Amino acid sequence: MSAEPVAPAGGTLIVGSTGFIGRFVAEASLDSGRSTFVLVRSGPASPTKAHAIASLKEKGAIVIPGSITDGEFMEKVLKEHEIEVVISVVGGESILDQLALIHAIKAVGTVKRFLPSEFGHDIDRADPVEPGLTMYKQKRQVRRAIEGAGIPYTYICCNSIAAWPYHDDTHPADVLPPLDCFHIYGDGSVKAYFVAGTDIGKFTIKCNDDDRTINKSVHFQPQSNLLNMNQLASLWEKKLGRTLPRVTVTEDDLLVAAKEMLIPESIVASLTHDIFIKGCQINYTLDRDTDVEVTSLYPEASFRTIEECFNDFIDKVVDSPVVVAKKVDSPVVVIGEPGGDDNIVMPNPGAKALAITATCA
Ligand code: NDP
Repeated sequence: MSAEPVAPAGGTLIVGSTGFIGRFVAEASLDSGRSTFVLVRSGPASPTKAHAIASLKEKGAIVIPGSITDGEFMEKVLKEHEIEVVISVVGGESILDQLALIHAIKAVGTVKRFLPSEFGHDIDRADPVEPGLTMYKQKRQVRRAIEGAGIPYTYICCNSIAAWPYHDDTHPADVLPPLDCFHIYGDGSVKAYFVAGTDIGKFTIKCNDDDRTINKSVHFQPQSNLLNMNQLASLWEKKLGRTLPRVTVTEDDLLVAAKEMLIPESIVASLTHDIFIKGCQINYTLDRDTDVEVTSLYPEASFRTIEECFNDFIDKVVDSPVVVAKKVDSPVVVIGEPGGDDNIVMPNPGAKALAITATCA
């Protein structure tokens, strides 16, 4: 496998750059020096979203207000800004919005690569229970529309983001690993790939202008990031400097949580079941013509380890004892500066948080 990819001369448009995964992709695009346009839906912006937009602008992003559901507008944007690469990182509830975008990309005919909102498992292989399955069916519908339109694509199958995999939280990297007790799925022995958000962004950008990834699914399988829950728990205990009780969450518990049909929590429960009970990240081989594996593409590049990612979490605890102390009456604890970009949210364990903060400080 050869050489590093070369950035395109034309623009890269990112949709969903203010979201959880999108912010990593947008930042990596800007870091790579390419001309980066970010489509941002108008309407009332939360302070966090406003802050994210301001920060991207400061780094050089060109902000375009609008929605991908407006096909005519999207055609105009793609033409006027000579967009060559479109990366969509829209959330689970907006997957089918991408059909209008695909229509616009096909109509314009100048986009050299489209990366739809995937950023998880290979949705043509994995088969979770409902309601995760409905989201996968929508993602499959988007894949078929792209392939039917003849648009060059890359599907990013980056597996799990590096964080404690809470079964009811869509954005686990925003939440500290447990401070009171671990919930272990099944016997805790099924492994998964935990990839740092910054690496999801970095390797997505590398892939999108690499000829070897045209019309391929790129699987993120760094062996250094393959761990089971028991190993993850032990690593976090090492960082904390003490052990925590472990409670088993059975397969049935996860299926019950999935059946409750609370959206998005039940979607996460169904995917958690697929990962940590059925082993959906490790129960297949890369035997299709359309499969490529990211560490084979870029053997020289290294991935951040879970240990490094856990160090970041510990730093957040150690650096901000005062803010933790102020928030003890709230249902969540926000660690960091008020309105800060890097804040971390965790369920409020009350006095235990203070005890741990004191231990670490
Ligand atoms: P978020 O909900 O955090 O963010 C979605 C972004 O898309 C927001 O910026 C939102 O804008 C924007 N958006 C939604 N609809 C439109 C539209 N019609 N036009 C323009 N912008 C739009 O998404 P996530 O980061 O949670 O999810 C992104 C992808 O990553 C999904 O495919 C999801 O399945 C996957 N994922 C993977 C994880 C993993 O561990 N591997 C974890 C979490 C997600 P606005 O602010 O206006 O709403």
